[in-house]
Amino acid sequence: MASVYFTPGPAQLYPTVAGHLQTGLDKQVFSQSHRSQAFKDLYRRADAGLRALFQLPADYAIYFTGSATEIWERSLQSLTAQNSFHLVNGSFSKKYYDHAKGLGRDAQMLQMPFGQGFNLADVQVPSGTELLTITQNETSSGVCVPVADIHGLRQKFSEPLLSVDMVSGAPYAALDFSKIDTAFLSVQKGFGLPAGLGVWLVNERCREKAASLEGRQYTGGHHSIASLQEQFQQFQTPSTPNVLAIYLLTHVVEDMLAKGVGVIRQETDAKAQRVYAFLEESALFAPFVQEKAHRSPTVIVADVLDKPAADVISHLKSQGLVVGSGYGACKEKQIRIANFPAISEQEMEILLKALRRF
Ligand SMILES: *Cc1c(COP(=O)(O)O)cnc(C)c1O
Repeated sequence: MASVYFTPGPAQLYPTVAGHLQTGLDKQVFSQSHRSQAFKDLYRRADAGLRALFQLPADYAIYFTGSATEIWERSLQSLTAQNSFHLVNGSFSKKYYDHAKGLGRDAQMLQMPFGQGFNLADVQVPSGTELLTITQNETSSGVCVPVADIHGLRQKFSEPLLSVDMVSGAPYAALDFSKIDTAFLSVQKGFGLPAGLGVWLVNERCREKAASLEGRQYTGGHHSIASLQEQFQQFQTPSTPNVLAIYLLTHVVEDMLAKGVGVIRQETDAKAQRVYAFLEESALFAPFVQEKAHRSPTVIVADVLDKPAADVISHLKSQGLVVGSGYGACKEKQIRIANFPAISEQEMEILLKALRRF
């Protein structure tokens, strides 16, 4: 029997992926030229679906890149000349900061201890900051930032461009895109697709800033905002894109829209509540994140008490239940359970039953 992947990326594939993959093969979609009308039609359809799913304001553009990691770098190259400020509360948010340092920017950060979130009142961003970055869901620690707090950042700091890493929170996180400037994701997390595609949502304010830097510094080569935008206007891409992933994404987004993003959010909340309730009552497991408002519904991190986490992971694996290990230094004592839309309520119940038996 096939295993169920509760891993935080690559993750369990969305249930409709196999069917769409076969249809794409049957229709020979992956041999069509990326300069053809057929590809433009596919990009247009992807754009319409993502726009509806995220309720994007009309001025947003949607670009495709290799990954979210690439977008960390490209956003810094196209949107900053000198400085950036990063809200860091785990390994992924820290990497965004590291990219800024690597590019020679004057990067500053507010760093929280691993497993803790931000208190909006404590966040201070220096005036003159060009780019403010936040990771909506820290896949490493299982800490999320409530969307209201992200919207609050814009109210408090209207000057910097606000960039949101929503890789492991999308499409669950109900962000108001009129209160941020750019956001991005990779498809192998909440969308349940094979890895290898980054999706970058970029508003007009970002494009104006990018245009002001164009010609004055290196802004990202073929994946600068200027070159992505130029191609996007014809639903084209600067280089041959991952047509396979764009095709699957388009269809999965349409499936999610047909189901209703509201239903997906309710199901995610319901599954998350059951997992956290179990962790709280369990003698062997405990929720890692203490502050309830900062507990991620989409990536749930549990401490494993009095037992190596590896034992739990291998035991579950023998039953076809694949959970993630703790991130980095927490590998030995934590497990991570992804609660993405691809995981059904029944599958989550099966996992909880197996955890209860320990
Ligand atoms: C996985 C992840 C990334 C990086 O995604 P890649 O596809 O590996 O580039 C970035 N940010 C967060 C929060 C992630 O979970």
